[in-house]
Amino acid sequence: MSLTKYDHYIAGAARAPATNRYFDTLDPSTGEPLAEVAEGSADDVDRAVRAARDARNVWGKVERRDRGRILHRISGRILEELEELARLETLDTGFPLRESEFVAREVAARHFEYYGGLPDKLGGETVPVPGNNVDFTLREPLGVVAAIIPWNGPLYAASRCIAPALAAGNTVVVKPAEEAMLTVLRLAEIATEAGLPDGVLNVVTGFGPAAGAALAGHPDIDGVSFTGSIETGTTVMKLAADHVVPVGLELGGKSANIVFSDANLDAALLWTLPAIFSCSGQICVAGSRLVLHEDVHDPFLERLVEATRKLRIGPGLENPDLGPLVSDGQLDRVTDYIEAGRQEGASLETGGRRVTDGSLAEGYFVEPTIFSGVKHEMRISQEEIFGPVLSVLSFSDAEEALQIANGTQYGLAAGVWTSDLKTAHYMARSLEAGSVYVNRYFPAGLEAPSGAYKRSGFGSVDGAETLRRFTRVKNVVIGLD
Ligand code: ADP
Repeated sequence: MSLTKYDHYIAGAARAPATNRYFDTLDPSTGEPLAEVAEGSADDVDRAVRAARDARNVWGKVERRDRGRILHRISGRILEELEELARLETLDTGFPLRESEFVAREVAARHFEYYGGLPDKLGGETVPVPGNNVDFTLREPLGVVAAIIPWNGPLYAASRCIAPALAAGNTVVVKPAEEAMLTVLRLAEIATEAGLPDGVLNVVTGFGPAAGAALAGHPDIDGVSFTGSIETGTTVMKLAADHVVPVGLELGGKSANIVFSDANLDAALLWTLPAIFSCSGQICVAGSRLVLHEDVHDPFLERLVEATRKLRIGPGLENPDLGPLVSDGQLDRVTDYIEAGRQEGASLETGGRRVTDGSLAEGYFVEPTIFSGVKHEMRISQEEIFGPVLSVLSFSDAEEALQIANGTQYGLAAGVWTSDLKTAHYMARSLEAGSVYVNRYFPAGLEAPSGAYKRSGFGSVDGAETLRRFTRVKNVVIGLD
């Protein structure tokens, strides 16, 4: 059976790649090819950027309230297509179906709904300047926004960037990751069906060093939004610097989930599992370090290990607790880290193996894995693994917990479990993390912006504030003398 072929999506239609070259995207549950996808080159990127530049005027002339209505229609269409989008996302990423459904509904549809309400509320301000002058600011779109996104939830990463960028009046070119991109192509089609003018949203698929670099370094883009690794983020920033283009970076994390002895341990346990094992740990804000107070360390760990052993592993479409990792490269990376944990002397409490039983043999499955006795300096405590591997550390007081939590190059998120308000506030203020979750894990909704410290990046994600990131300020002063 021949595979479905996916072209780029440029100026409102599917476009074959200039080189006519395609590559396979694989089903991570089986390792089998899933579809053929256009391999983007600098020519394809150029074509997409030109389409986006040409569309700026059209999109700019759409009344703000109508811009919002189109985004609302996109949201509605995503909900109508939810089942199909979630299925495609699961096939492409391996994520359990219910997680893909959640993302399609609560992230993708919700982003277009939320930001669809904002274009007509995005105003400037009047500024009280001295003298007989009137001074005010205008918030203008940047122009063409390049969005370079990762594979861990293409629908998730794409919507978080596309919705605010469009709401602010920009046109967009997306370069999804080479491991998973099918839903982003479908999203662009859906946007056209919902009435988004041609060229306002374009997608070029392909590999990072070719298509991604051509996009980040293109002289005619006006802003870059990048989500991915520190190494690639740094490269993208340098490419954008050549043309003095502003960049937003959401990079990795090694987030600490800190449990004090006065915490509600049942609740902490309930959230600790999804914090690390959702999407098999392939989430930027995953709570990949569990930092337990010494008084509760042993009983908490025992319950956690017991609960983890019950988790089911399987193909995403069968709705297991954990699906496969996205690619063989990711599988190697995660199993290498597990080996490093063993060699560094951490105690393997559970998991630690690639799963090769029966029908899972060819997929990229790894058992949910917990290491205890992890020392702060170990690689499995310092480096982002991006897999279902939890490092458990122990602390005796708040200062030690902070030293552990803040002691990496990352600063994306942190969890704190305590029933003491003072401890909660003290930790929230002292943690170097763009998001602090107290007595829960993960953001409560996209209404709240998430930031980042240190090498986890800069530029907010989500919330009304993020709309501003996709605008530039222009000041107008009118002399009245
Ligand atoms: P990962 O998150 O898998 O570690 P990356 O950070 O490298 O991977 O990938 C995130 C995104 O950046 C992907 O869309 C990828 O194709 C893209 N990318 C990779 N290398 C480059 C590059 N040199 N220039 C621009 N984009 C790149």
